[in-house]
Amino acid sequence: MGAVEKSRKDVLPAGSWDYASSLEGRDIVSFEERYGLFIGGEQVSPRSRSWFTTVSPSTEEPLAEVAQAGAKDVALAVGAAQEAFAPWSSWRPAERAKVLFRIARILQERARELAVAESLDGGKPIKESRDVDLPLAAAHFFYYAGWADKLEYAFPGRRPRPIGVAAQIVPWNFPLLMLAWKIAPALACGNTVVLKPAETTPLTALLFADVCRQAEVPPGVVNIVTGDGSTGAHLVRSEGIGKVAFTGSTEVGKAIQRELAGRDISLTLELGGKAANIVFEDCALDQAVEGIVNGIYFNQGHVCCAGSRLLVQESIHDQLVRKLKRRMSTLRVGDPLDKNTDVGAINSKAQLDRITELVQAGTDEGAELYQPPCRLPEKGWWFAPTVFTNVAQSHRIAQEEIFGPVLSVLTFRTPDEAVEKANNTMYGLSAGIWTEKGSRILWMADRLRAGVVWGNTFNRFDPASPFGGYKESGFGREGGRHGLEAYLRFE
Ligand code: NAD
Repeated sequence: MGAVEKSRKDVLPAGSWDYASSLEGRDIVSFEERYGLFIGGEQVSPRSRSWFTTVSPSTEEPLAEVAQAGAKDVALAVGAAQEAFAPWSSWRPAERAKVLFRIARILQERARELAVAESLDGGKPIKESRDVDLPLAAAHFFYYAGWADKLEYAFPGRRPRPIGVAAQIVPWNFPLLMLAWKIAPALACGNTVVLKPAETTPLTALLFADVCRQAEVPPGVVNIVTGDGSTGAHLVRSEGIGKVAFTGSTEVGKAIQRELAGRDISLTLELGGKAANIVFEDCALDQAVEGIVNGIYFNQGHVCCAGSRLLVQESIHDQLVRKLKRRMSTLRVGDPLDKNTDVGAINSKAQLDRITELVQAGTDEGAELYQPPCRLPEKGWWFAPTVFTNVAQSHRIAQEEIFGPVLSVLTFRTPDEAVEKANNTMYGLSAGIWTEKGSRILWMADRLRAGVVWGNTFNRFDPASPFGGYKESGFGREGGRHGLEAYLRFE
């Protein structure tokens, strides 16, 4: 019995019903001791001769050594992708589609292994990696496989052509899913790619290299270079790339945009967010509470489109907060491999420090903090689900992206006020609206400056639906037909 189980026994009243732990077996995945870079279809040792260790954030246990790619390694990967571009882009589109279909099927076949790897390396609950990350990653490959031989129909009257080598950089919150969002449309359009996973979660990308071998992706079409931000910077500066697709923080996104200024390279940026989840007094309240919990505690709140600002109509504030706190007390925080876990580990010590600092700022600025009773495991990086009430618009916790399981509650009286408060942020990635009136959802959605607006739900994703931001949440869309456009030029 782990520390969390014990602690729940401590905090729950005697005789109350509780779950027994239900651990997913980790034997399904075996990591190599050391991973090289995936270049030209082979695992190669880095020229940099430099390595780093990736650890499990829930136990701090080292999982594997991973190559830290330097400038020469990145140049080699870009060279391999350039060489593969001409043959790959001249394949019959239906043949390219077959490769994507094969990848999708192998992802499904190896879903359990990849889900366990994702939870071990990233700290997310297995029920999320199993039920969300993996099915959606496979769905992206299925979806874009379907487009590969229909590009002329997607853009009638235009002549779509692939761009060349796509440099792709992804963050640590959905490592394999973000990889799928990037690689699937790029390959469907006939490009080749060099992808850099985040330094704290490189393992599923390295397992994906093996999926590529299994699916007989031609050598050089997919290349994976691991490393920290400096590897990403080398990739962005590379000669020979035609496109940069970046998902990550607004700060790094701006640096990349500056770096590319004056170069003929197309760019898409998927950056941070501070979404408003807006709850009207006429909504189905219990359903809204589920949506609020899903909106902010899913994936420990490490979600760019997380509903981190709850805007609640003043008349139902007290009732809603009461229900929310009661629901929060049932969330199970602990071992990511336990199938009952709702909230897993914080991805890194650095991220935990950032969350802790912002939560302290919330308290210092006068907001009221609530955390349900739960004792956190001693090893690893953890943060209890948190809600702040009495939050003012000017508070840092209402303005800055916390990227953790922390919700800020604000109130409004009229729909106009809700729109004004929701839009009062530098971000514009997503929003949620809870009301029984369909007409109000449409009225609000028209006025919200957010790329995705959910009505009576939250955090729903589908490969056919475009996703992206306004303002400092970035530009360009991933997913859907729009997602193809980012990987094409038109003659
Ligand atoms: P980050 O910007 O620090 O890192 C993202 C990636 O960029 C990593 O692979 C990192 O190694 C690399 N990188 C760092 N410095 C670089 C540089 N100078 N040049 C090139 N690459 C560099 O972000 P993070 O902390 O890993 O991720 C969290 C952020 O990502 C949050 O702000 C979140 O909102 C955002 N995010 C956005 C979306 C979206 O679709 N909009 C999705 C997921 C995450």
